[in-house]
Amino acid sequence: MKVRIHRGTKQIGGTCVEVEHDGRRIALDFGLPLDGNADDSTLVPQLALQHLEAVVVSHPHIDHYGLLHHLPQDTPIVMGEAARRIVGMAAPFTGHPLPPLNGPRLEHEKPLTLGPFRITPYLVDHSAFDAYSLLIEAGGKRLFYSGDFRGHGRKAKLFERMLAQPPADIDVLLMEGSSLTRMGADDQFPSEVALEEELVGTIQKTPGLVLAHTSAQNIDRVVTLYRACRKTGRTLLIDLYAAAILEATGNSNIPQSDWPGVALFVPEAQRRLIKRNGWFDLLDRHKKQRVFAKALKSIAAECVMLFRPLMMKDLETADALNGASFIYSQWPGYLETDAYQTMTSWLSRQGIAMTHIHTSGHASPVDLRRFATALRPKSIVPIHSFAPEKYDQLFENVVYRDDGQWWDV
Ligand SMILES: [Zn+2]
Repeated sequence: MKVRIHRGTKQIGGTCVEVEHDGRRIALDFGLPLDGNADDSTLVPQLALQHLEAVVVSHPHIDHYGLLHHLPQDTPIVMGEAARRIVGMAAPFTGHPLPPLNGPRLEHEKPLTLGPFRITPYLVDHSAFDAYSLLIEAGGKRLFYSGDFRGHGRKAKLFERMLAQPPADIDVLLMEGSSLTRMGADDQFPSEVALEEELVGTIQKTPGLVLAHTSAQNIDRVVTLYRACRKTGRTLLIDLYAAAILEATGNSNIPQSDWPGVALFVPEAQRRLIKRNGWFDLLDRHKKQRVFAKALKSIAAECVMLFRPLMMKDLETADALNGASFIYSQWPGYLETDAYQTMTSWLSRQGIAMTHIHTSGHASPVDLRRFATALRPKSIVPIHSFAPEKYDQLFENVVYRDDGQWWDV
């Protein structure tokens, strides 16, 4: 089995790994670089398409699937079924081009065969829903691709189970190292459960509306937010995008638009989208507990809004911001980008203070070490990290590879 990492040996984002055996090949992920434009075809990894069995997508984050739409529509795409629904549902809302989405599914610990490759998916704890690590076997060799994972989220049990019963005889471990840039070797992240109490504290201190800004696709965080709402007696206001993503999980344990303590608010920008795209069925499915802009002012103090910047105008017009607070609950780096300038200056104009309540979607250095120790691979190749040079200090048997370089497992 031969491998080349097209992108990812020295960076986070845009991940793509090509695996070859007996002239057949698969790609693991087909991501958009963090600063890349989805339309830029020069970013597309050059694979020999005629010998490509499939692209296997580890999880539904843009930096792992965001270039798929450049592939022919009949390219088999292997991914989790919920992940597939989420990608399909998100595209028309976010404006990202709809990728090809047909192909076999990833299911926890159910091996599938693609040409000469046997692939065993392991469901993992990550900030994306339906995320997998992948064991790839061919020609008597075993390659393990960690994908993105963590050990401190709502599915931490999956991580502990993997440590207790790791797959044996791994020749090469491709392991992500997102957290290594800023974290010391002994640093840990707060758990998703710990965030719940922090959220409760901030919600209780807020006399008006709480604006909580996180990605609706960070399902763990939405669950955390919902639980904090239940504890404080507040209603979680979600928009149609969030309602559609939560529905796409297909999981009856995930909050939905018709659950107690949830209500739908459709901002003006989405009302236009609904009209333009004829999404009346979608709206019908989620409107059971809908609230309208004119009611926002009177219910503000009883609600937490799953906030997106496109709601700024609606909230101002509805005069719903008296005593409001803002919880920033995603990667702090986004705040530095130009896209967030408008939002941060809007908040300061409104006199709304910002509280940061967040934990990473990625494993801490401590958990990365536990993971590497448990899997005992013959070698570890860094991937999905801006600090690959740190692997040498933290893990044994590290082998460095370059983007574009072929090597044997
Ligand atoms: Zn991810």
